[in-house]
Amino acid sequence: MQHKIDSSQHGPRGTAMTGAIESCVHCGFCLAACPTYNVLGEEMDSPRGRIYLMKNVLEGNLAEEEAQPFIDRCLGCMGCVPACPSGVAYGDLLTSYRANVESERKRDTMDAVTRRMIIETLPYPGRFRAAATAGKLGKLVQEILPDQLGTMLNMLPDTLPKAINLPNVIPAEGERRARVAFLTGCVQTVLAPNINQATVGLLAKNGVEVVIPKNQGCCGSILSHIGEEGRAITLARNNLTAFGQIDGEVDAIITNAAGCGSGMHEYGLLFTGQPEQQAAEEFAGKVKDITVFLDELGLVNVPNNQPMRKVAYHDACHLAHAQGVTSPPRNLLKAIPNLTLLELNDDGLCCGSAGTYNLEQPDIATQLGRMKARAIANTGASTVVMGNIGCFTQVEKHLEKMGANIQVMHTVELLAEAFHIS
Ligand code: SF4
Ligand code: SF4
Repeated sequence: MQHKIDSSQHGPRGTAMTGAIESCVHCGFCLAACPTYNVLGEEMDSPRGRIYLMKNVLEGNLAEEEAQPFIDRCLGCMGCVPACPSGVAYGDLLTSYRANVESERKRDTMDAVTRRMIIETLPYPGRFRAAATAGKLGKLVQEILPDQLGTMLNMLPDTLPKAINLPNVIPAEGERRARVAFLTGCVQTVLAPNINQATVGLLAKNGVEVVIPKNQGCCGSILSHIGEEGRAITLARNNLTAFGQIDGEVDAIITNAAGCGSGMHEYGLLFTGQPEQQAAEEFAGKVKDITVFLDELGLVNVPNNQPMRKVAYHDACHLAHAQGVTSPPRNLLKAIPNLTLLELNDDGLCCGSAGTYNLEQPDIATQLGRMKARAIANTGASTVVMGNIGCFTQVEKHLEKMGANIQVMHTVELLAEAFHIS
């Protein structure tokens, strides 16, 4: 006899999980789109296999520990979502499942320590900067550290760029065409603060007034992604308050990080059943990736004096698969004179970064990183652009390892350069 999932047993997100599981018809169309299935070739490391495992755990037919290694290996890249003809909401299922099992989960000591370091440092720029600086000392003894901590230190750059403090309001240049609020983010402000500087410069140049709310912080996506729902809610709540204090209306809440945009679009789900649910849904409705916003608004004249360049565009999973954003960044790049846009021939497989994945599953992340670097090099491009800091770090590392002389840039950095914004 088949057991039914009782959604009331699984908290406010039970209905999302039940709906996703019941809409899967086991057709297998998603398998080819799944990076872990491509690398490992195992049914249980495919979307269909994982749905089967989660269903059985939720119905009480399988111990959570038996399913866990396969669920842990899921990148959360959402490559399976657009590939699914039945519209299975795999993302809602995965996020809700991880949040449900995390509190019961038993982790070994090293796993627990790595996770604690991620939770306590990555979302907080001050702490992350301090930890990254201290981490450089750790690099000296890296060989004797356990695998996961060694990988973590290996991800850190040798030098951190100087912090850039942006004002709370950046006025539009010329006639004001729009007014937006801007999420500055967490990790990116430490690793590549110039991306935010380029973003506000580009917006101002295109007639957009930018408001940067005080007291904003990490959007919580990085924690929501790994099942730390309570902490993610705390961070998201802080931002609902900070952005709610802006004087006057804004046309959009802008982000330049695919992971943050995807996570903030899920604020309604994150606050299911909570008093802030409606405010969270309204907030989510205003969130736009910078490329979507600028493509809709239209760029003011891009200067004609541009160098000839061959540029490859890498689709960040949380832009392309999770938010369906593929045309806007390409439209903006094609507006730059003398730029030839090149496509990767790898079916948009994840680069292996996926939030904290390259810290938690370094072997698979490395294989995917190598595959992505090869696909980029095969285009013959001299520059590759993308819209997510996680991909940026991963792609840069693997291109460097294979000795490819290809410049890695955020989409807004290239656009800002085309507008001669210093
Ligand atoms: S494509 Fe969709 S319906 Fe088919 S197995 Fe995958 S998730 Fe299930
Ligand atoms: S989210 Fe990505 S890794 Fe996970 S099952 Fe879907 S395609 Fe595979």
